[in-house]
Amino acid sequence: MKRLITLFWRWWYKRHPKPSKFTRAEALAIAKDFGLEWEVTKAMKQGCNPDEALQEWDIYPYDDAAVYKHLQQTDPEGMEMLSEDSLTAPICFELPDGTIQQTGGTNGKPSTRRKFPQPSPDLRTRWCSAYLKIDVCATALRHQERFQGIRTLVLSGERGEESKQRAAYAVLEPDRADLRNGRHPRHIDRFRPIRDWKEQQIWDLLEKYRVRPHPCYFMGFGRCSCKFCVFGNCDQFASAACVSRQQADRLINFERDFGYTMKRNTDLKTLINSGNPYLSITPYLRHLATSYEYSAPILVPPHQQWQLPSGAFRKCGGPT
Ligand code: SF4
Repeated sequence: MKRLITLFWRWWYKRHPKPSKFTRAEALAIAKDFGLEWEVTKAMKQGCNPDEALQEWDIYPYDDAAVYKHLQQTDPEGMEMLSEDSLTAPICFELPDGTIQQTGGTNGKPSTRRKFPQPSPDLRTRWCSAYLKIDVCATALRHQERFQGIRTLVLSGERGEESKQRAAYAVLEPDRADLRNGRHPRHIDRFRPIRDWKEQQIWDLLEKYRVRPHPCYFMGFGRCSCKFCVFGNCDQFASAACVSRQQADRLINFERDFGYTMKRNTDLKTLINSGNPYLSITPYLRHLATSYEYSAPILVPPHQQWQLPSGAFRKCGGPT
């Protein structure tokens, strides 16, 4: 019977497709609305303290919805990592009218983390990627009626060069939020248009359109990830500590409080002391990367030359 009902709804939706609710501009805005930079700015306007988004770059147009809000939901310190005998935090995402919808956080068993995500390819132990990005995006797609009965394409920027796992990702596949065969179909595909691109092609494209790269690349980072990414090597951590000393100290203190280190073979203080901060870190770049409003032009003005940042092609620790 259940199968019959499902077949009926599938037939119904095929014959009565909803017109797309998005204009071309709105469709492009979906991805933009997933930006952390936007979210942090908005949270600040509401009187929140952006320091709580501890691990993220402060200026960072990122691809996850309401990460900052999500971090905030967990506890006063704003971190899933600090959860203690509590439920996983609700997920929040932005609606087209600018309001924030919250979902989840009410079911499941209370649990305790009080450990850093582990630098592992397994998303269950390296839970940061799932909890801060992947699940948030999927939840935003699953919980909005506007994505039902239409076809949605989610674009993401994984490149095969970055890891073996990413090289094995399909260029086009159903997204994890897809429900094309459900009673109320939600057809969502994920497209990875640059999976086979080389890093050189990325820089060439930025140069062609005169887009100024994120300031962290100019400081010498080869990867614009979380500032203190769990995969970071000693130079990355030393550089991140040079840029944001207070945040580094907080992470060092967390290790003491938890009784667990982030890395298996060393503690953060030793790791930071063993690395060399990148030489291209300047007070201006540090300020630009840790301000909550981006003051430099996004496009390089015509009278200036586009510059390849010093972090280009630098090997940095990242998801394996
Ligand atoms: S960039 Fe690093 S710390 Fe941030 S979510 Fe990904 S793996 Fe985790």
